[in-house]
Amino acid sequence: MSSVFIDSVLSAVVSRNPAEPEFIQAAREVIESLDPVVQKKPEIVRLKIVERIVEPERQVLFRVPWVDDKGQVQINRGFRVQFNSALGPYKGGLRFHPSVNLGIIKFLGFEQVFKNALTVTPIGGGKGGSDFDPKGKSDSEVMRFCQSFMSGLFRHIGPDTDVPAGDIGVGGREIGFLYGQYKKLTNSFTGVLTGKGLTYGGSLVRTEATGYGLVYFTSRMLQDRGTDWQGKRVVISGSGNVAIYAAEKVQSLGGKVIALSDSNGYIVDEEGIDLATVKRIKEVERGRVKEYVESRPKGSYTEGCIGIWTVPCDVALPCATQNELDGNAADILIKNGCIAVAEGANMPSSPEAVERFLEARVSFGPAKAANAGGVATSALEMCQNSMRLSWTFEEVDVKLHGIMDNIYAQCRDASEAYGLPGNLVAGANIAGFLRVAEAMMAQGVV
Ligand code: NDP
Repeated sequence: MSSVFIDSVLSAVVSRNPAEPEFIQAAREVIESLDPVVQKKPEIVRLKIVERIVEPERQVLFRVPWVDDKGQVQINRGFRVQFNSALGPYKGGLRFHPSVNLGIIKFLGFEQVFKNALTVTPIGGGKGGSDFDPKGKSDSEVMRFCQSFMSGLFRHIGPDTDVPAGDIGVGGREIGFLYGQYKKLTNSFTGVLTGKGLTYGGSLVRTEATGYGLVYFTSRMLQDRGTDWQGKRVVISGSGNVAIYAAEKVQSLGGKVIALSDSNGYIVDEEGIDLATVKRIKEVERGRVKEYVESRPKGSYTEGCIGIWTVPCDVALPCATQNELDGNAADILIKNGCIAVAEGANMPSSPEAVERFLEARVSFGPAKAANAGGVATSALEMCQNSMRLSWTFEEVDVKLHGIMDNIYAQCRDASEAYGLPGNLVAGANIAGFLRVAEAMMAQGVV
């Protein structure tokens, strides 16, 4: 039962952001978790912390004109939402995908605020991107687009102001082009982006970090159920950065990854997905997941991606995109005996799906906690850049592992302290919110 206060904040969010369903969905989930917090801490209500936290500090929208290989002028739209800087410089990825709009960037930026707080590193929250589609574009087209995008963005970011990174459609290639243009425009070599190449300031483990971190977090969920990865059947959606490195870590811990997908369809390999083949297709050839069966005839390919959740499994890791797992898919996973779901993508489970998992006592790791390993390692990259040092793979991996364990402990402890034991959704929202709220209260009304 929500309080009058929670209801009134929620209805203001809905009426002020009418065309932004994803942002409203993300804000609703956090705000509804805060009821026990505002009951205990009336100063949060008096200082309007919740009302302030749902309002981005700054939103930048800009035109991104560029010339394609045929000499035609193309125009995309660029976004950067600087959501909250109470804990440090704005930090969050850039997404290049045709579905990008302001509401999607706001939902991602809002989630990022709490996720970054949970990492307990000094970073605020932000997100950006463009409706540009890198798929099918030549390297030169991607470079010209990135240069134009950065020409619009550079005046708003900086190593102590706002530090973007990658997300869907923005990997090492794009970060390199963006960084080169930033350096040229500002005549400075700083840690203004993370996810950089290792030759120019990148951190070891950043590529693997979100997927590895997701699996470290899920290990703690399994441990609390008295089990581990050994022999578990694991279904992972997506076949991008997060999915591939989650699969790699699951396999190294004794789990069997049997399915992966892309936006066209999914593959199943009962002998266990051969990751070297997937990496070649996705990372080197930039191909489609269906090409997997050409090299591994025992595998099968099915057109359409939602069907991946009908593959019986013990653990499901949605690592593709928002709202890819609905209530119906959740019912099927539960019926097939799935015991744990952890979100590698941002908000991949619909509210109905989350409700079903919590009701059925499936261990459920929400995105803002479970996929925080990427941004945590970005914060470690910023740290190395400031010190002009590079840590070894093992050093960064150990720190990442420690951060994920700590995030799990914060979520579990907050869920218990606020009377919702086992509910990591509420735990993550409350623990992340409290860190940001305390800093905001200390900094006055700004
Ligand atoms: P990538 O662009 O590397 O990969 C995205 C993958 O998801 C691709 O395989 C893509 O297929 C697939 N995909 C997209 N839409 C769908 C769909 N509807 N159904 C099935 N598959 C789909 O992105 P990332 O791996 O970096 O990001 C994935 C998710 O993880 C996003 O939600 C992102 O916000 C989140 N995330 C990423 C972090 C990172 O460090 N990279 C950090 C934290 C969260 P296709 O090739 O067909 O488009």
